[in-house]
Amino acid sequence: MAHEDSSKPYQEVSGRTLKSQSGPIQPLNPSSVSGALPSGSSQTVNVDLSLNLKSGSKTTSAPSSPAKTRESLLQRVHSLTGAARDQGASILGAAVSGATRSQSYSKDKHYILLVIDDQNTDWSKYFRGRRLHGDYEIRVEQTEFREISLTGSEAGTIVSMAAYRNGTKVIRSFKPDFLLIRQNLRDAGEDYKNLLLGFMYGGIPSINNLTAVYNFQDKPWVFGHLLGLQRRLGKENFPLIQQTYYPDYREMVTASRYPVVIKLGHAHRGVGKARAETNQEFLDLASLAALTNAYCTAEPYIDTKYDVHVQKIGNNYKAFMRKSISGNWKSNTGSAMLEQLAVSERHRTWLDHIAQLFGGLDICAIELLVGKDGKEHIIEVNDSALSLIGDSQEEDRRHIADLVAAKMQVYCRHTTSTKTAPRGSLSSSSQVTSPAEDQAAAHLESHNSLGSISTISSIGSTGPATDGITASDSYHQLQRRDSKASQSSTTTSTAPVGRRPEDPAPSRAPFYRQGSQSQTQGEDTEDTMKNLRKTFAGIFGDM
Ligand code: ATP
Repeated sequence: MAHEDSSKPYQEVSGRTLKSQSGPIQPLNPSSVSGALPSGSSQTVNVDLSLNLKSGSKTTSAPSSPAKTRESLLQRVHSLTGAARDQGASILGAAVSGATRSQSYSKDKHYILLVIDDQNTDWSKYFRGRRLHGDYEIRVEQTEFREISLTGSEAGTIVSMAAYRNGTKVIRSFKPDFLLIRQNLRDAGEDYKNLLLGFMYGGIPSINNLTAVYNFQDKPWVFGHLLGLQRRLGKENFPLIQQTYYPDYREMVTASRYPVVIKLGHAHRGVGKARAETNQEFLDLASLAALTNAYCTAEPYIDTKYDVHVQKIGNNYKAFMRKSISGNWKSNTGSAMLEQLAVSERHRTWLDHIAQLFGGLDICAIELLVGKDGKEHIIEVNDSALSLIGDSQEEDRRHIADLVAAKMQVYCRHTTSTKTAPRGSLSSSSQVTSPAEDQAAAHLESHNSLGSISTISSIGSTGPATDGITASDSYHQLQRRDSKASQSSTTTSTAPVGRRPEDPAPSRAPFYRQGSQSQTQGEDTEDTMKNLRKTFAGIFGDM
């Protein structure tokens, strides 16, 4: 397949304007911005005033899904000025409505969706009102990996989530029916493989499937699979960047050419990536790598015109051009301009091939660099934890919710013998005894309402969860997990509970959503409301 014409390689999507991607906010000078535009680009520049609420934040926070904590709202508001005031007001509106929301679920007729994501997105709003099998609701529990503890056994996986509210630790325990994994399993200084293993014990169906998430733990492992694709498709048709793998620093003696980009270990958002102009710099970086146990890769530095991100969410494809405007060679660090592009057939085909890896990827994205010479270089693939970018993130989240709901409809089945049926049984005639993606593929063929070619790690669910279990000690509650096939609870404690004693207490309370104890939630909601009113009254005057 021929390369795209480098003079006009990508077609712009009409109506989509250039937009700065949120990064550390920097004053933008429109004239300098337009000076940096690639030729043929739209000239309209909108400054995105959304903030990365924390350094590790994956997603760009959209006005429609603001962070709900008082602290983060304050951060936002202090940073917003002048023209941004309206946006701040809309954040308040959304946050207040989020805080006052009191969603109750049918005690018997719901399935629990555990969303693993940061606090910048309130996923419950994307599932409100959706029903499975006619009258089963989707109850959303949302937290980050760091806030989860779990136990896995043949009876399934019981998840406990910790939250601090008014100085009191609150533990919620439940058995998820489905997972949406929007957070990277591994990152610099973070590794949640231990939790993934526990999810597999319960055979919890997931997007992306658990096997795929497992396979995305090491970037070189994924790259190795991309090399396999390249061998099948040919270099011209799948232009991977030339990458060398070093198991450790001892092998790092020289690179084939300079400048070279060194990527140390598995990390995201530009962390662990450095550029070496000379062999001396390369050796200096190798000496730093010696202090870690991390593997390393090296690839030629591409003098880049812009990056292109092409994402696939189910059957929805989108492409974005990203160009740094803060001068950082890493376009995902600092400020960048984004422009949505039409998805070319070539890129769509790449994604379709990639989406077949690891038992199927429901959600994936490919990142490529377009050099000044117009050549494309594929540098990496991301999974369901991909960062949503551009001004259509809201739409992307809806696509993700559609995909999750469609898969839940297939994989979450109500069975009459919920108390004894192990998770993983789709029905009495469809027992899962092996890694589920093998069977799920066949199953999906008849249920594939979204037409996705991907599969899921595990079939089945034990049926709807039941609310209302309250215990004084969630550890004991976990010991009693077998007494209910699917249960959830809220417990309060002043000492760490449901977590190994040596584990540090969670440093940050997760965004707390639906509680099964309405009284506790009511008080909490009231407090949040009061705090929000105080905060915004202080900043905007009485509202
Ligand atoms: P993610 O958060 O997507 O996982 P990451 O930390 O894996 O990001 P990369 O996407 O590999 O990092 O690189 C970060 C940025 O650095 C890229 O978006 C690109 O702008 C730049 N970059 C990476 N590799 C190269 C290269 N070989 N030549 C030039 N620029 C590069």
